[in-house]
Amino acid sequence: MTDVLTPEQRRLNMSRIRGKDTKPEMIIRKGLHAAGLRFRLHAKELPGRPDLVFPRHQSAIQVHGCFWHGHHCPMCRLPATRREFWSAKISGNRERDQRTSAALLTAGWRLLTIWECSLRGPARRPEEEVLACCSDFFRSGRQQEEVAGVWDRINTEHRATSA
Ligand SMILES: [Zn+2]
Repeated sequence: MTDVLTPEQRRLNMSRIRGKDTKPEMIIRKGLHAAGLRFRLHAKELPGRPDLVFPRHQSAIQVHGCFWHGHHCPMCRLPATRREFWSAKISGNRERDQRTSAALLTAGWRLLTIWECSLRGPARRPEEEVLACCSDFFRSGRQQEEVAGVWDRINTEHRATSA
């Protein structure tokens, strides 16, 4: 896959990996708050300490960085050095995410995962669209859903320009 981030973007990306108040998370927090939704942050008593918890909707939202949480998208690209280390680290994170989301669902919570690439990078969607996905999820009654960037569109454009 082609590298979608400039070195500068990648450096910023790496520096934010462990950050709690990452930009995508702040976009979601601000947007949903403005829409009148009330939530708690990083609820310690729930599996995986979900980023946002909406008790009224019995729902949680996780805003996942694509690199750290191993999203199958071009923004999860291993660094050139210590690839084995990063690969093992990210697989471990993915397994942990799967365990905690299963535990949340078993406990009767609904879970929406918002991937970083839906709000940052070349495949990002308009913020309003991602926020609308959140409201739709609350109304839908579905157990689990994910919001990601529109990589299909990028791939199609790439094919069109390189044809
Ligand atoms: Zn992604």
